[in-house]
Amino acid sequence: MHSIASLLALLLSTGASIPGDQPIRVGLFHQRLADRVYVAAPDGLRVKSGKRHGTERVLRWASPGVHCLRYRSGGFEVETAPAKWTRLGASPVLLQSAGEAPLAAGITPTALTPYPGLLELAGYRGRLRVVNVVGLEDYTTAVLSAEVPGSWPQEALRALAVAIRTFAVASRGRHEADGFDVCSYAHCQAYHGLEAVTEAAREATVATQGLILTYRGRPIEALHHACCGGHTTTSAAAWSGARDLPYLRGISDEQAGRAFCRDAPEFSWSTEIPAAQLLAALQAQPATNPGKKLDRVTVRRRDASGRAVSLTLQGSKRRTVTAADFWSAVRQSLGWHAVPSTWFEVSRQGDAFRFEGHGFGHGVGLCQWGARGRALAGWNYEQILAAYYPGTRLKSHHSR
Ligand SMILES: [Zn+2]
Ligand SMILES: [Zn+2]
Repeated sequence: MHSIASLLALLLSTGASIPGDQPIRVGLFHQRLADRVYVAAPDGLRVKSGKRHGTERVLRWASPGVHCLRYRSGGFEVETAPAKWTRLGASPVLLQSAGEAPLAAGITPTALTPYPGLLELAGYRGRLRVVNVVGLEDYTTAVLSAEVPGSWPQEALRALAVAIRTFAVASRGRHEADGFDVCSYAHCQAYHGLEAVTEAAREATVATQGLILTYRGRPIEALHHACCGGHTTTSAAAWSGARDLPYLRGISDEQAGRAFCRDAPEFSWSTEIPAAQLLAALQAQPATNPGKKLDRVTVRRRDASGRAVSLTLQGSKRRTVTAADFWSAVRQSLGWHAVPSTWFEVSRQGDAFRFEGHGFGHGVGLCQWGARGRALAGWNYEQILAAYYPGTRLKSHHSR
């Protein structure tokens, strides 16, 4: 009997075998480097030398158990019996399923995630680096499944599939110094392998196969976010020092006074943060440290969309900080939902700061809830993409 994961792998294998589909290298567990990795291989494991012209060495395990591999003195070993280690080969090595069932991997034996494609293990700063070498189409399906529910309208999923694929193509080599293209965190695009892949996401990926957005012939930085709150903003307004890109402009996400993303749970929000917590979060970063106390926070400047650009912190001293640094400090200490966007009013309420605002995320590029609203209003994915990324063109990335 097939597990759900192996059935999905069968479905997804069509994506991996597309001619010209170049694999993308996704760094896994990158923020928690370990010296060993656990790999489940239900159909057996094929281990190859990752070096060019290397000899292929195949190991098969009859049992569908979990295998532990570790990095030791320049090479890899596998635990073949309790505390008995067998040498596999020098770094790097490639792991491949010997059958249809995908490999699952994790840095603890109890939390294994199935991944499409191959796993590459290499020594890295004395620890072990795990890279998932995955076809671009499988990667797109996985990220799309993690980003939005499969119950959303197909045209919205298709628009987002193109944005995700484009972002990946434009991000090749973004983590070159780390030995891969993109990380598996929200810093690049959140990626959980085959864990929550939906049939609707696969359908949207297949329907837009190979398509990316270009501006003057080059893949664009196809940023996207959960909900803009009614108006998107420019890349230059969202990050200090970021370039203003002609296709990432602030656009109104409304029609006849109603926002396309109004169904989002965080379209309008309010939250209170205890003053001591906010102070500690700001103190943790040199760019926002207000000193020993924090009495008041005021928005000093806003961009055209209404988002805060700079803030004044009044404490034992008075300092001006960028809203981007403020937001990053708050999210690093208190989590992604603490202050959902930089489009807010802030006031002191006794022992807490009260934030009232709009939208969730940075507000640049495609608004996911807005794409859903436009699809429900009858827009197709080409029209949705043209609205959020003005001036861009759809192209097959194989024919670039
Ligand atoms: Zn990254
Ligand atoms: Zn929106």
